[in-house]
Amino acid sequence: KTLDLVTFANQIVDRFEMSTKHASIQFKRKFPNKPVKVQADHDKLTQVFDNTISNAIKYSPEGGAVVCTIKQEAHRVVVSVRDEGVGIPKENIPYIFDRFYRVDKARARSLGGTGLGLAIAKEIVFAHGGSIWVSSDWGKGTTMFFSLPYDDGTVEEA
Ligand code: ATP
Ligand code: MG
Repeated sequence: KTLDLVTFANQIVDRFEMSTKHASIQFKRKFPNKPVKVQADHDKLTQVFDNTISNAIKYSPEGGAVVCTIKQEAHRVVVSVRDEGVGIPKENIPYIFDRFYRVDKARARSLGGTGLGLAIAKEIVFAHGGSIWVSSDWGKGTTMFFSLPYDDGTVEEA
């Protein structure tokens, strides 16, 4: 189904922003001011956004900023979710998309989770013909990126 990624992402960030659980997080959006069309399953794409944004929140300090960006390129759309959190040590980066993999078991246990969020996100993004990757500096923050093929068909209502 064709959907407008800007409207879609705005709805998701609105939902996180309205949740009192995340009151201390500063959400920012850098979205194009025109629709960006992609072919995607609504519920599955919701899961990709939820898993990446919830990680950004979970691994951030109080008052941290979470910046969601949508960039349209020639043949694909790139979404990024940047945080100012704990970051990921370089040696762990190759494994974070593996099922049940969690960096620093002790810290991870106290924060809760199963280590499946990114494995699921990767599976969904791949099934949509996109890819997912990360850039992170330990102690400084993380940016999670995912891409989707750009669709220049017509937009249908969500
Ligand atoms: P779940 O998503 O199943 O609740 P989880 O968050 O631990 O558990 P993933 O989302 O798959 O699992 O992430 C795997 C690991 O990658 C995390 O345990 C964490 O160590 C690391 N990680 C993921 N996103 C971030 C981030 N934004 N900042 C720092 N570390 C991260
Ligand atoms: Mg997670």
